[in-house]
Parts: sequence; structure tokens; C-alpha cells
Amino acid sequence: MPWGFFHKTEHPGRRFCKHDHLTNNVDIQNGLSSSEPSLHFVTKIHGRSYLCSVQNRNDNSLLVLTDITWEKESEERRKEFFDGASHELKTPLTSIKGFNELISLQSKDPVVERYSQLIAKETDRMISLVQDMLSLSELERREKKNVPAIPFRPIAEEVKEELTPLAKKRGIRIEIQGQANLPIEREDAHSLLKNLWENAIRYNHEGGYAKVTLSQGQIFVSDNGIGIPYQDQDHIFERFYRVDKSRSRQDGGTGLGLSIVKHIAMLYGANVKVKSTLGVGSTFVVTFPNQRIKTSK
Ligand code: ADP
Repeated sequence: MPWGFFHKTEHPGRRFCKHDHLTNNVDIQNGLSSSEPSLHFVTKIHGRSYLCSVQNRNDNSLLVLTDITWEKESEERRKEFFDGASHELKTPLTSIKGFNELISLQSKDPVVERYSQLIAKETDRMISLVQDMLSLSELERREKKNVPAIPFRPIAEEVKEELTPLAKKRGIRIEIQGQANLPIEREDAHSLLKNLWENAIRYNHEGGYAKVTLSQGQIFVSDNGIGIPYQDQDHIFERFYRVDKSRSRQDGGTGLGLSIVKHIAMLYGANVKVKSTLGVGSTFVVTFPNQRIKTSK
């Protein structure tokens, strides 16, 4: 098939010429022979990273190469920093928590006791934050997986048991409906569901519900809570993005839960979508591959 290419770079990179034999690259070969009209992928050529966009029209193809080596390297450095900082923070925080418990046990002074409670609350919040940062770093290092489907209902029952005390405290009814076999590892399934379900309980009103519905290939987590403004719905999966920062912080939220959910889903080729109306409620839908059917509440 006749094809041509266009090479864009904002940083000093390498210019290509016909001697570079771009079609020897397997990713490019596949892209040019694909029946898809438009494709985007990242590949390495001569040790540099390129974002490749292929447009296949009739019998002609256009390949656009954008040198993203610099962006990839700075992303890598950012991840290393995130990972290193989280590890370094973990040990001192655990010590502060321990010493604070000792102070609280030994002091009879109510003022000291009051301050000690505040320190305990803040250290717990920071420990959760560091744990979420470490989970996210670990997820980013993992490769995409194809695993056999496992029964999801028992995992949902386990998460329900863990969330029952919180739901009782907030006056929220929690329930599970349906069955599903889903291609995901147990621990990831647990973490994905717990993050979504806990949000459905936390961003809710007393007397509300937070419901999990399982159907083949899909998990629905719905609530009749506070809802999410339309303009925020595209951003809530970004790290540290919160609609109401003070509410989330006061509640012990880290702002990383939905990023963790998105990363877990991506590892198994699944996607996560949200449908929400402010003041009415939200439904999060996780759809596994080959099961992408229309979402409903
Ligand atoms: P957080 O720790 O703040 O809950 P998340 O990443 O889990 O962080 O969620 C990001 C933000 O998305 C939350 O701060 C909240 O504003 C919003 N959000 C998530 N789930 C819901 C929900 N079920 N109902 C309303 N808002 C939600």
C-alpha cells in the first residue's frame, strides 16, 4: 500500500529518511496494514519514543510521527519521585503514630489528650494518602493482563461486610444485586469495588442508598447522593481532583481513589464511566472487554 510520513518534533530529535526503514518496525507495520481508518500508538525507534498516528484512506496511508521522548522521560522522573517520596514518608509517619499513642496513654492532661487526638487523625489521613500513592505507583508499573474470569459476588459480599460499619454510621442502605464472572484478579477486584462503593456511601445523605449491581461483564455502583456537577465529571479520575476539597479532606478522602479505580480497570482492558446528576445521584459503570453494552441506571 502506498504510504507517506510526516515527522513532528519540538525537541532536538532525529530526522528520518528512507534509509531508516520505518516499515521494519512491527507496530508501524501493523498500523499501516490495519483496516482501522485511524490509529494512535506509541513505539520506540532508534531508542526514542514516538507517538504514531496512522490515517488509512482508500489505498493510501499517512503516518504522522511525533517525538515524545522528552515527555516520556519527564513522566518517568515524575513517577520515580512520587514513588520515592511515598516510601520515604511511610516510616516516619508510622513512628509519629506510635509515639503519639504513647503520649496519649501516659498523659492525664485533657489538653494533651485533645491535641493527641488531632495528631492521630492527621497522621491516619497522611498514612492513607501514602498508602494510596504507593498503590498507584505499583499499578503504574504493572503490565496489562488477560486473566480467567472469577465469580465477583463473593468479593462484593466481602467488601460489603467491610463497609457495613461506615454505612451504619452514615445511615446509608447498602445492597448487592445480581451475579457476574469477571476477568480480574481478586485483590484488584476488591480494591476497585471498595473505592467506588465507599464513595457512594461517603458522598451521600442520611437515609440514602449505595447499591452494587452485577451483570455479565459489568459492575454498576449507584447512589442517590449529592451527585457530581457536569463540568467536573471528566476530571474526577485525575489525581487529587475533588469537587469539594474541604468535604473530601474532612472525610479522610485522599483524592486518589478514582485514579486507582481507573488504573485497575485499564490493567484488565476495562473502562469506567460515570453518569451523574447534581443533587440526584451517581452511577459508576465498569465494563470489561467484549461486553461494551449501553450503560443504564
Ligand atoms: P476522594 O478521596 O476525594 O473521595 P476520589 O478520587 O475517590 O477521591 O474521588 C474524587 C472526587 O470525585 C471526590 O472528591 C468527589 O468530589 C467526587 N466523587 C467520587 N465519587 C462520588 C460519588 N459517588 N458521588 C459524588 N461525588 C463523588
